[in-house]
Amino acid sequence: MTSIATLGSHCSLQVLKGAKDEGFKTILVCEKKREKLYRRFKFIDELIIVEKFSEILNQEIQEKLKQQDAILIPHGTLIAQMSSEEIESITVPIFGNKWILRWESDRTMKEKLMREATLPMPKPVTEPKDIEKLVIVKRQGAAGGKGYFMAANEEDYNTKRNQLISEGVISKDETLYIQEYAAGVLAYLQFFYSPLTGELEFFGVDQRHESDIEGLGRIPSEQQLKSKKVPSFNVIGNSPLVLRESLLDEVYTMGENFVEAAKRIVSPGMNGPFCIEGVYDENAKFTSFEFSARIVAGTNIYMDGSPYYSLLFNENMSMGKRIAREVKIAEEKNEIEKIVT
Ligand code: AMP
Repeated sequence: MTSIATLGSHCSLQVLKGAKDEGFKTILVCEKKREKLYRRFKFIDELIIVEKFSEILNQEIQEKLKQQDAILIPHGTLIAQMSSEEIESITVPIFGNKWILRWESDRTMKEKLMREATLPMPKPVTEPKDIEKLVIVKRQGAAGGKGYFMAANEEDYNTKRNQLISEGVISKDETLYIQEYAAGVLAYLQFFYSPLTGELEFFGVDQRHESDIEGLGRIPSEQQLKSKKVPSFNVIGNSPLVLRESLLDEVYTMGENFVEAAKRIVSPGMNGPFCIEGVYDENAKFTSFEFSARIVAGTNIYMDGSPYYSLLFNENMSMGKRIAREVKIAEEKNEIEKIVT
């Protein structure tokens, strides 16, 4: 019997609850320090205890998972803690397309896929000396916004970079990615694409709450000016958002363009959950600064189903449950190979 496995962090509760509801055995690869937390949840059938998540690369653990016909659901923690090579080397079947995760982690590849999908993007800035407008400086991979900073010109860039290096937040030889800052309402658009039906589903929207950039708005400018701290964009939590209905058509178009682009350049394409992340400006024009090629933690706000999924399903459907449903349908149709890599 197939089981559903994931790493104990990020959205694992949602994923395994959804899997349980769909009748699967559930397995959590759990760091020892979090065992107590996860034992609280009865829908987790088995915990595989590790010291570090990277132990999932060990043959022994992979064998354990394979013996139980496990399908591994990738999420942000897998990407944040392992290199693309390591993820690609995992021989346990991974839900969706494990090859596309590299395109999420590598900034140059990411930009290429977004361009292929004709997503409107903020202009990248190649060299610090070319900074003319306000920019945001990012790190590689799914760093969760930690160590990101804003800069108005080259001097500002150097000062802040040096400060973060001396504080040990970023390292000296790290390649940073510079992009024009896009101001507006943040919106993280969550989708699911099923290679079984060939259909794109729009699941929901979330907003991220990021410390300490968000806390800045609560401090009067006088105090802000005196502060020497470089504010970071570390994600603390998420909250729901619904969009003006007039924006939905464009949302679907962007999602479909992304799916088509992924099919062309990274086979077998963007299967399963993904997210397009960006900002709506004063003319409701969307600029996308990111994508995530797997389930995002922002879907955790809809564990009981999202507003948009209540229009598509006559039942409560979380993203975790949607993933498990896809596995179930694929099994019934004998098409598992279409939904895993
Ligand atoms: P990311 O890792 O690209 O998702 O960025 C983390 C956070 O930085 C986002 O959630 C946004 O708050 C912010 N951010 C990233 N890129 C931009 C941009 N080009 N303009 C404005 N804010 C951005």
